[in-house]
Amino acid sequence: MPGKRSFAWRPQALEEAMTMLLLSVLVLLTQLPRSRGAEVTILPQKHLIDACTLVMCSPVENGLPGRDGRDGRDGPRGEKGDPGSPGAPGPRGMPGPAGPVGPKGDNGPAGEPGPKGDSGPRGEVGAPGVQGSAGTRGPPGIKGDKGAPGERGAPGSAGAAGPAGPPGPQGPPGARGPPGLKGDRGAPGERGAKGESGLPDIAALRRQVEALQGQVGRLQGAFLQCKKVELFPNGRDVGQKVFKSAGFEKPFQEAEQVCTQAGGQLPSPRSAAENEALQHLLEAENKGAAFLSMTDSQTEGRFTYPGGEPLVYSNWAPGEPNNNGDNEDCVEIFTNGKWNDKSCGEKRLVICEF
Ligand code: BGC
Ligand code: CA
Repeated sequence: MPGKRSFAWRPQALEEAMTMLLLSVLVLLTQLPRSRGAEVTILPQKHLIDACTLVMCSPVENGLPGRDGRDGRDGPRGEKGDPGSPGAPGPRGMPGPAGPVGPKGDNGPAGEPGPKGDSGPRGEVGAPGVQGSAGTRGPPGIKGDKGAPGERGAPGSAGAAGPAGPPGPQGPPGARGPPGLKGDRGAPGERGAKGESGLPDIAALRRQVEALQGQVGRLQGAFLQCKKVELFPNGRDVGQKVFKSAGFEKPFQEAEQVCTQAGGQLPSPRSAAENEALQHLLEAENKGAAFLSMTDSQTEGRFTYPGGEPLVYSNWAPGEPNNNGDNEDCVEIFTNGKWNDKSCGEKRLVICEF
């Protein structure tokens, strides 16, 4: 029934109820004499089993209570209650059908390059190259000395047997002696031994080349050393040329002779580099000017090298050549590298070109 408290019958509950009943009687007995007028309400026996509602005390106003009445009628309907809390969501429905396929998206950006691959296995050894062609024929050897004149021939005898092996290199024949008497015909000679192969000994040639290379290297070192010694302190080399100062001054013609006798000639600078080498040598010698090889002795105003060739390079000072005094057929170079036509009779430092 709604509103009624339900319970399960337990043996322990009966024991507890009895205990509570005894306690209640004890309380009544002890309260009655001191609190006259107190109303004692004894709940119906059916409620005794609930220990929480067994006994209720209130001040006494009236007489002793009557008997327990019957249950009253139901009360008026109560107010509408607050809405309840939302319930738990229902189970998820089944997925709907698939929609139509959408348009194709744009291409994504290019990916980064992948890592470098491992190197491949080592290749096999290639076949040997084709044999090179034979070298060119070497120059002929030096001519041998003339052989000594032959001795007078002995009288002829019976012919000897033929030679066993190949003859050695034959020298030029000597003077023929007088013929001897004719001998008898000799027996045929034995067959000669087999000659050596005409192929060159490659290993021997290689040793010779290596020896020559060593000699060339040593000669180059010695040559460079000699060159340094020769150029110190009054020489300069530029390209294939060497300029060297004689250290004294001479008129043009004497200067020309000095260089020619030494196996060279007066300087003929054909480039800026050669001109600068001469300039620096002139500075080192602490002289103001030196003669060059060129003149316009043949044709005024047309300077040429000793062989008659026209100039391929020049470095005239401003206003030169001016043939000052109508007497300047030679050329001098100053310490600034500039050229001036000058009288050949002047004395200038002698520098030779080799
Ligand atoms: C020189 C000339 C030169 C001139 C330049 C003279 O002293 O003899 O060769 O051209 O100076 O001013
Ligand atoms: Ca001049």
